[in-house]
Amino acid sequence: MLKFYNSLTRQLEEVPSHENKTVKMYSCGPTVYYYPHIGNFRAYLFMDNIRRVLKYNGFHIDGVMNITDVGHLTSDADEGEDKMLVASQREHKSPWEIAKFYTNVFMENAKKLNIDLPEHIVPATSVINEMIEFVKVLIGKGFAYETSKGIYFDIAKFPEYGALSGMDIHEKLAGARIAVDDEKHSPYDFVLWVKAPKEHIMQWDSPWGRGYPGWHIECSVIGDKYLGETIDIHTGGVDHKPVHHENEIAQSNCRYGHQVVKMWMHLEFLQIDGGKMSKSLKNIYTIADLEKKGFSAEDFRFFYFLAHYSKQQNFTFDALEMAKNTLKSIKNLAKEHQNGTAHVDTTKFEDEFLESINDNLNMPKAIACVLKMLREERSSDVYSTLMKFNQVLGLNFDEEEIPAEIKDLAQKRWEAKKARDFATADSLRNQISALGYEIKDEKDAYKILKK
Ligand code: AMP
Ligand code: ZN
Repeated sequence: MLKFYNSLTRQLEEVPSHENKTVKMYSCGPTVYYYPHIGNFRAYLFMDNIRRVLKYNGFHIDGVMNITDVGHLTSDADEGEDKMLVASQREHKSPWEIAKFYTNVFMENAKKLNIDLPEHIVPATSVINEMIEFVKVLIGKGFAYETSKGIYFDIAKFPEYGALSGMDIHEKLAGARIAVDDEKHSPYDFVLWVKAPKEHIMQWDSPWGRGYPGWHIECSVIGDKYLGETIDIHTGGVDHKPVHHENEIAQSNCRYGHQVVKMWMHLEFLQIDGGKMSKSLKNIYTIADLEKKGFSAEDFRFFYFLAHYSKQQNFTFDALEMAKNTLKSIKNLAKEHQNGTAHVDTTKFEDEFLESINDNLNMPKAIACVLKMLREERSSDVYSTLMKFNQVLGLNFDEEEIPAEIKDLAQKRWEAKKARDFATADSLRNQISALGYEIKDEKDAYKILKK
């Protein structure tokens, strides 16, 4: 039986779904103000993991992820500057150019990691009108109020505030030592809409004058627009539990008068060398940094499987090297099994694999099962079962077989095509075809297939 841990109820539960076994799933997406690091990608590999395991169990997914391109301040609460504006000043580009550039970087990396992306990927700035409407409803129902600085959510009107992270907001309020804005009813009231000073670059018309949205409202609004008023699973990193997700719950549940998200799933952080990633320690790595050191995005994908998502995972280059070597041996063994003639009954492995992934995504156990199965006599039965498991693992077993010469020709063809030198591109395609391979073009990439 498929069960995931619900951080809200703090127990393992059956996965909720809509009709036709469709799971409506929302994932908090990236803030596109800088290069995403491998910690961020642990969060999206987690999303990928959930999606693939659901599909393996016969569910369909209607998934949504936001792209934060406005409103996320340098602190997750309402303090500091908008991250997009800081980036815009740093790089002397408009916030729109910044968002476009880093969204592309994110998508390219996600593709390299073979992340099964959600059906809808939605920038916050594409739903400004919907956000205004949502805030209007909250004001209308008495959950929000206006000050000279903006529109605030009145947390005193939502007694369940804090349930997700287990904080007693009333106790916290009594001992509050944070700066009090005189106009706010309580220091923990958070902003829904900010009244913008004239010089603020990103601003829109609203019933409350020119302004921009607070960070939290986008997720409630995008979830509402694309998935409706009942969402089965909502994912994000643990850092989002105490502020961002509490605020999302408050906004959405008060808008509808019922619980909107049924199951919350949180991922623990990736640590580096046993500690936090930080700029001062110069230990923030991107996928490109790993590549420069001779690792592939897929090596990092495999590394993700080696720890449970609910535990912190410690990243070191030695550990990544071990992951890389294990992945290599899995691929080599897969090749040996592909043409193996022995008969192996793989039922017990199939059962164990399914039991592991369905036990709240126990990927380390699922990988141990794969390794055990690969030690069997060489058999195409094992290979077929491995390919079935690969619906969850998402590893690339084809590319390994492609000779370097073909890869080289394919890359030259791709470059010729991009340079619009179609004659050269066609002639290279013919050459590749004569060697027994074909190229399949996708939007911003290509695949090499054996004919
Ligand atoms: P951001 O782009 O800052 O909004 O973060 C995107 C996602 O990455 C969020 O879901 C965060 O919780 C997650 N995240 C940030 N740092 C880490 C980390 N070190 N390990 C795992 N997830 C992280
Ligand atoms: Zn969010």
